[in-house]
Amino acid sequence: MSFRKALGRGNNVQKHPDKRMLLVEDSRMFSTALKQGLEVAHGISVTHCSSLQAVKALMEKGEIEFSLAVLDLNLPDAPNCEALDFVLSKGIAAIVFTGTFNDTTRDYILSKDVLDCVLKNQPDSIGQLIAAVDRALVNSKTNVLLADSDEASRSSLVSLLLRQQFCVTAVENGAQVLELLESPEVFDLVVTDIRLSDMSAYGLLHEIRLRYGEDALGVIALDGSEDRQHAARFLRSGGTEFIQKPFLAEEFTSRIFHVASIQKRVQALHNIAARDYLTDIYNRRYFFQVGPRLVEQCLRRGGSTSIAILDIDHFKRLNDTYGHEVGDLVLKAVAKRLRAQVGDEHLLARLGGEEFGILFNNLNVTDASGFCERLRLDLASAKVVADDEELSVTVSIGLATIESHESFDNYLNAADQFLYMAKYDGRNRIVSELTVLNSIAS
Ligand code: GH3
Ligand code: MG
Ligand code: MG
Repeated sequence: MSFRKALGRGNNVQKHPDKRMLLVEDSRMFSTALKQGLEVAHGISVTHCSSLQAVKALMEKGEIEFSLAVLDLNLPDAPNCEALDFVLSKGIAAIVFTGTFNDTTRDYILSKDVLDCVLKNQPDSIGQLIAAVDRALVNSKTNVLLADSDEASRSSLVSLLLRQQFCVTAVENGAQVLELLESPEVFDLVVTDIRLSDMSAYGLLHEIRLRYGEDALGVIALDGSEDRQHAARFLRSGGTEFIQKPFLAEEFTSRIFHVASIQKRVQALHNIAARDYLTDIYNRRYFFQVGPRLVEQCLRRGGSTSIAILDIDHFKRLNDTYGHEVGDLVLKAVAKRLRAQVGDEHLLARLGGEEFGILFNNLNVTDASGFCERLRLDLASAKVVADDEELSVTVSIGLATIESHESFDNYLNAADQFLYMAKYDGRNRIVSELTVLNSIAS
């Protein structure tokens, strides 16, 4: 499991700047209001066409790939839903927006794979349509891990979820869920039948909460039994939602959407709280919050890992010479370089002042030492331009190995003691068990 998983993805549900939407509408009033609402409130870029002919010409060019289309059913050159058929034939998901809705059009729309249908002559129909678009886009960014040991039920749930644009991975049992959660793929929600072939939803929920905490994942149970106690027990145990079977398709997907959107808001808030205000890398709070769990995962996999503290050398002197603002620029530049080198694989944070921490993901002290050496050289070779001066800094690094269960503070204290030795030995160097052993041997 990569370290970014502990936080989940920091998507903001309100904005979808990566999405392109096709709007097919001949009424200028509606198209202007919709385009404005979608672009301004949701950051979606909208391409507008007012006829089927214009849609065809646009598609022929093939320059834009659309994630979604919103269509008026009746256009001057396409009075019988031809634009809907055309868009669906191109594999674009569609939401219908119509003024006329008799039984024939209703049956016709229901027979198609349409995401939603909004009536024009309702109060706040524009608001409803914008909400439907947002729903489809949130769903398309939501990774659902579905567990059901019954094949028929599993495949029908998969079709329901896919139809509403969710990204779905389906498995048969709880062990497969836990295995996939350890993989690099990031999931937002687990949807599980109350009884899996190898464990109950309660057992699975317990394992998930133990490993990933309270809100890294939404966990939803489905139950077809008569026992109403199941819902209370599951929710009391930390479950996010409970859906009684049988359900209407729309109820099921609406409840999943509801959990997904709350989940994404929680992830966005966590993301803000986890960042250092100056450098935008993770902060000390996040390092201490997630670090112990990540150590636990590394040790559970049977390996050892390492932790490093990096401290900029003579930073006070730099501040005193060039001023605090230049000091801030240097801190940002160092953090940026560290982030580029460390990536998502290991956990990097600003621990405070001019001190950074790296908790490695299953990297023994020899490999971590090589990694730190590359960081040290990279930083020493970098130049920060500030106040017409080219500044360079060096760092000292204390690196400690993590092999057995101890308190998280203990690992950091060990790295801090090695850092102190690195400073004492002359700075711009790494000290770890390895260097200490080597110096005793020589
Ligand atoms: P050493 O090589 O032993 O690490 O010496 P040093 O001068 O880097 O260490 P010291 O701990 O004496 O000084 C750290 C300085 O970092 C003091 C403090 O004013 C400065 N500092 C802490 N936080 C910030 C910050 O956010 N911005 C700036 N510009 N300076 C900061
Ligand atoms: Mg310091
Ligand atoms: Mg320092």
